[in-house]
Amino acid sequence: MSWTLKKSGLDNDNLLQNESLLSLGNGYLGVRGNFEEGYPQTYKSIRGTYINAFHDEIELQYGEKLFGFPDIQQKIVNIIDGQTVQIWLDDEAFSLFEGEVIHFERNLHMDKGFAERIIHWRSPKGREVQLHFKRLVSFITKELLAIDIKIVPVSPIQQIKVISTVNGDVSNFVDKTDPRIASGHAKRLHVIEAHQQEQWSIVKNRTYATELEVACVASSQVTQGNYQYECNSTDNSVEQTYLFEGNEAIHFTKYSVYTDTLRHGEAVVEKAIAVQQQLSATTFEDLLLEQKDYLDHFWSKSDVAIDGDTRLQEGIRFNLYQLLQSVGKDPVSNIAAKGLSGEGYEGHYFWDTEIYMFPVFLMTNPEIAKNLLLHRYSILDSARARAKELGHTKGALFPWRTITGPESSAFFPAGTAQYHISADVAYSYIQYYLVTQDEAFLKDYMAEVLFETARLWADAGHMHEEQFRIDSVTGPDEYTCIVNNNYYTNVMAKHNLLWAAKVYRLLKEKDSKHLQQLINQLELTEQEVQEWVDAGEKMYLPYDETYKINAQDDSFLQKARWDLENTPKDKFPLLLNYHPLTLYRYQVCKQADTVLGHFLLEDEQDFETMKNSYDYYEEITTHDSSLSSCVYSIMASKLGYKEKAYNYFIETARLDLDNTHGNTKDGLHMANMGGTWLAIVYGFAGLRVKESGLSFAPTLPDGWNSLEFHVQYQGRLLKVHLESNAVSYAVVEGEALSILHNGTAVYLEKGQKVRLNSAKLSF
Ligand code: BGC
Repeated sequence: MSWTLKKSGLDNDNLLQNESLLSLGNGYLGVRGNFEEGYPQTYKSIRGTYINAFHDEIELQYGEKLFGFPDIQQKIVNIIDGQTVQIWLDDEAFSLFEGEVIHFERNLHMDKGFAERIIHWRSPKGREVQLHFKRLVSFITKELLAIDIKIVPVSPIQQIKVISTVNGDVSNFVDKTDPRIASGHAKRLHVIEAHQQEQWSIVKNRTYATELEVACVASSQVTQGNYQYECNSTDNSVEQTYLFEGNEAIHFTKYSVYTDTLRHGEAVVEKAIAVQQQLSATTFEDLLLEQKDYLDHFWSKSDVAIDGDTRLQEGIRFNLYQLLQSVGKDPVSNIAAKGLSGEGYEGHYFWDTEIYMFPVFLMTNPEIAKNLLLHRYSILDSARARAKELGHTKGALFPWRTITGPESSAFFPAGTAQYHISADVAYSYIQYYLVTQDEAFLKDYMAEVLFETARLWADAGHMHEEQFRIDSVTGPDEYTCIVNNNYYTNVMAKHNLLWAAKVYRLLKEKDSKHLQQLINQLELTEQEVQEWVDAGEKMYLPYDETYKINAQDDSFLQKARWDLENTPKDKFPLLLNYHPLTLYRYQVCKQADTVLGHFLLEDEQDFETMKNSYDYYEEITTHDSSLSSCVYSIMASKLGYKEKAYNYFIETARLDLDNTHGNTKDGLHMANMGGTWLAIVYGFAGLRVKESGLSFAPTLPDGWNSLEFHVQYQGRLLKVHLESNAVSYAVVEGEALSILHNGTAVYLEKGQKVRLNSAKLSF
């Protein structure tokens, strides 16, 4: 089964999209799949290098600024360009857009951790050369981008010149026509230093507003070919030139090391030099071996093997690989909506993390999952401050979009009003606890987060006629804003409130001393905890007797239905073609909302209600958000809609590979990538994690021979293998475990495989 994403032929129409697809990263550093030599002006490129969470701030401009609107917006910054290498064959610069490209292929090796370009090129004057570029962003030395180039002359060439540049004169990408991309403020940082020191090219930049600094220190290694060397600096860049005489093969490697003040302290240049020194005896081959080791380990726990469909297999592997490349592995960073592959959504972290990506890591790499929780914990104080700003006496309101904590959404109806993010954060903490049973984490972080988010709900909602109601919020569906009693929000808040009370009781039993400390620190009272229980137990969950469904909110079902059938295809996504108010007046959903609530908290409703809701909302959902199809796939699996489950899955699996949303150029859709895994593991295999334990309800799509994956659970590694009429479970690491298979308990001895007939979905 292939581990390589192959792109053959220079595909001029898809250059920008391929830059996103072939981006490389390690959670800290990300580089788009740009061509080292650059594109000529006529061919557009979004040339980008990013450090997770490295950002600037921009003053938000409002026509009418009301109380509590955020003053500033954070924005990921395109940092110093350390990828440029130009190649001259005598007096002709190598360019894919001149002369003749005799052979061109690009590969992304997802098992080996590098990308490559293999080229045979004839210049306009007939000089011929073979070029082999390999590049990697190291998973081991997070600061490192390495580029390895082999140049083999095919026709006589007297002199080959290799110019390696580090350029600090960089800007962000701007597109005024699309709200999902930034519309201004391209230039966010300036050069502080640019010079050569010993063998290193050094450029240091500083952002204008946040005054964060980033350094790029680059070195080069020539392992084949005789050369003369010179170095030139300008105010913004440093250029190392290698002149090779004679018609000989050349092997050249460039190492660009990035450091920043968020992780490396003030002395960013010195730190980058120190990393260079540590790497001085390391070759590109050594780096490749390290990448392979790291990825062998990753895939041994995370691979999903589909036998019977190579295109979907490619889709799921690619998505998992990109998730690994994008996820922050230190508590300073999270996963941006576009990962480190582009500037769409300005590098912000959303609920996408908790609901769509976190579960993948939780079940395969709990350490990475823990970091994501720690990032949220690190911004708890800003969430407390934001709650106050919004008029709450207590509690924490997590920002809809942010990098380091402040709310960065200027459009509150589909931003700040999405209060559910606080319950989503709480949900992820609860899931982490259920999967890891990490009592220390519960004490040190989870209790505080759950208490503070529960406080928010207690304050945001109110009792009315013996029911707890939450008014004026927005659920996940961004085509329906500022409503009373959004089902998703209320059911998630209920879970949040009741779990906060449960954790309080747990701590009281197990560690009353620690609880007392928290009580003192948070000025918490027993009465408050009782209020959480009351609010949770009496939470109002809208239900409609006519349709026998949960209403998305109090007024949703009274609105006119949008005529989707007669809406011209070119009017989608609707958000780019209709004023928000037009959309708000209709029953039309951008994405799964109530149906998502049914997936995350399936025990809140009976099967029939969930089925009715699915049928109802499916008809009015556009899936204009890439966070939608995977949820519809998962719930279709649960409800026994096998064909739908498969069709929705197809939409998620190759969304970026096939650019089905048309905006892959701005970066990859990371939540959807997590959603692909969820659609397989929570959908087809029917995994659920509850207090009662781990359960499966498997079913294999027709046409697949088998499906295999691993999950981690309470210190065990479990292997699950599905065939069309059987399923086997095996605990491959850790102690024996009891699971539920289609509702029946199955005991799994350590090291033994249990094979069962996979009964069709049954409820
Ligand atoms: C979706 C949100 C999502 C955001 C970032 C929007 O289009 O509606 O649910 O959080 O994109 O991915």
